[in-house]
Amino acid sequence: MEDLFVYNSLSRKKEKFEPITKGFIGMYVCGPTVYSDVHLGNVRTFMSFDVIYRYLLYLGYKVRYVRNITDVGHLTDEGEDKMSKGAKKDKLEPMEVAHKYTVGFHDMMQLFNTHSPDIEPRATGHIIEQIEMVQQILDNGYGYESNGSVYFDTINFMKDHPYGELSGRKVDELLVETRDLKNQSEKRHPSDFAIWMKASDDHLMKWNSPWSVGFPGWHLECSAMSTKYLGKNFDIHGGGNDLKFPHHENEIAQNVGACKCSPANYWLHTNMLLMNGKKMSKSDGNTITPTQLFTGDSPHVTKGYDPMVIKFFMLMAHYSSTIDLTDDGLQAAEKGYKKLMEAIKVMDSLSTTSTAGSLDEEINGTLDAILKDMSDDFNTPKVIASLFELVAKINGLKGGQLDINNISTPCLERMKKTIHDFVFDVMGLKDELSGDSSSKYLDGLMSLIIDIRQSSRANKDWGTSDKIRDTLNELEIKIKDGKDETSWSLN
Ligand code: AMP
Ligand code: ZN
Repeated sequence: MEDLFVYNSLSRKKEKFEPITKGFIGMYVCGPTVYSDVHLGNVRTFMSFDVIYRYLLYLGYKVRYVRNITDVGHLTDEGEDKMSKGAKKDKLEPMEVAHKYTVGFHDMMQLFNTHSPDIEPRATGHIIEQIEMVQQILDNGYGYESNGSVYFDTINFMKDHPYGELSGRKVDELLVETRDLKNQSEKRHPSDFAIWMKASDDHLMKWNSPWSVGFPGWHLECSAMSTKYLGKNFDIHGGGNDLKFPHHENEIAQNVGACKCSPANYWLHTNMLLMNGKKMSKSDGNTITPTQLFTGDSPHVTKGYDPMVIKFFMLMAHYSSTIDLTDDGLQAAEKGYKKLMEAIKVMDSLSTTSTAGSLDEEINGTLDAILKDMSDDFNTPKVIASLFELVAKINGLKGGQLDINNISTPCLERMKKTIHDFVFDVMGLKDELSGDSSSKYLDGLMSLIIDIRQSSRANKDWGTSDKIRDTLNELEIKIKDGKDETSWSLN
């Protein structure tokens, strides 16, 4: 099996990946909190882990990929439970909120053509396991009860084990966990964190426990569910790098505190999605929903983009780099994506009878690089750069600058297989833009209508341009005039 190297956030080094059991991989990724619509940042993280999952399968590993659904709310800074907040906002049962946004999340991930995980456990379905883990932590002397809540005793824990290794924080720097500010007085030390919380009377989601009617602490579900489905020690744990502290740091402490074993050997963290150079933020309007990006209905974009174009755009950056979402970047990705899909069609129609070719060495070198770069911490930008070297060759063959007789049959077949494997299986792209013949006709007709509308406006023929606008409105087709071009979308 091809050697695989991954950047391990725990050691802060790129390491050769060695699975615990030869041929098998256990991977846990922190899933979404389902109290509101999934946002593009979440999409980026889950898409990155989907490509990692797909590549591990491609390498021949049998992978058990577990991604949880957080359907127990975490406390917000204001001390209100996110799930209850969502329930109150929409006048729904908390479980209705969770169900609604879980369905929305699945639909969105399907639009981006990602695989389902092998197990998708819910926090509410694992309360018993979480209570057992709290008990184990208490039994081992790393927790204490205070007024019906149970806290992880970081000071006692640090007498026996390191704490803060993943985030690189020293104990004096360990931030007070802002999410349970209101319970500071119950804690022995500011860096202690809740593993069970006593619920107030108006709290919507609560369960019986030996300590109080309450609910598990934020970090506990992932410790309990990863242990249940992957064992005390498994291969890969992933999530966005905003989860390193406190969530993942505390997950490690809980697992060590309960099972005396560090959960994952390799910690992989994706970087954040920015927009126009700034963190996406609802409060200053610097945000766009996936749906707005599909339809183009946002001041941040001049047109709508297909989910595959957005995916291609995101894969042009390494998972550990930030991505700056810009309209220009998306337009460039759209051009690149179309060029790639067109070249693949041309490639599929090529055939040769040569047994040896002068272009073989170069093409095989690029194909080797694709595998090497993907095995070097899943370097999708380098893979895409190599794919474009091959696109240039394919276009050269099409245009007659290169001769197909200079490629041998085995080399051409290898190129076809590698490109198909990486573009469709590993990166999970689909040829969406060329579509089926009916959508091609539709695209052709729409660009004709847009041209007619433009020339009628240029000629001040308002009757024709109004008629086109009204008819398209009736058909619920929306036209958007951008800087350079006019686009259309279905409402
Ligand atoms: P949440 O639903 O907030 O628990 O987040 C689900 C996943 O999305 C976590 O792994 C987060 O780290 C990740 N995530 C949240 N915001 C962003 C962002 N702006 N860019 C990339 N990943 C993010
Ligand atoms: Zn988690």
